[in-house]
Amino acid sequence: MQQNEMKLEFDSRSCNEGFARVAVAAFMTQLNPTLEEVADVKTAVSEAVTNAIIHAYEGEVRKVVIECRIEDQTLTVAVKDTGKGITDVPRAMEPLFTTKAECDRAGMGFAFMEAFMDQLKVESEPGRGTCVTMSKYITREPNKYERQ
Ligand code: ATP
Ligand code: MG
Repeated sequence: MQQNEMKLEFDSRSCNEGFARVAVAAFMTQLNPTLEEVADVKTAVSEAVTNAIIHAYEGEVRKVVIECRIEDQTLTVAVKDTGKGITDVPRAMEPLFTTKAECDRAGMGFAFMEAFMDQLKVESEPGRGTCVTMSKYITREPNKYERQ
């Protein structure tokens, strides 16, 4: 079994959202993903990191941790914060549910993560933080640079 792991910790500043999704995209290139698969993962990571920045910490600068694991052709990404947590996770995951409608939030973040990844698990404890774990099976594209 092919296995590989990486872990990132960064400040919850919105400028780091782009860094986080590019870092995960770079890590997954070893799986020879299609451009569409990379775009899907980037969107999902971006939604989870944005949620940690704006909802969990509400503008306060604290830490966001991303853990990535590759097992064969499956990529698993966990986005963790130690912020305010979510009281009703099933409700928060409903499409169009948002607690920040006044900030023009659409309430579509979890719906996008669910649509673009194969599996999504949200664990949260009010006052302690949230861990969003997502995984996706990556098809192995033939690599034209690889020796046959
Ligand atoms: P959008 O993602 O479309 O901009 P949104 O962030 O409100 O809007 P979701 O990403 O689906 O929508 O999240 C739904 C709700 O879940 C949020 O409004 C917020 O109340 C809660 N939530 C999501 N992630 C976190 C988190 N990491 N910490 C605390 N609350 C969260
Ligand atoms: Mg969101």
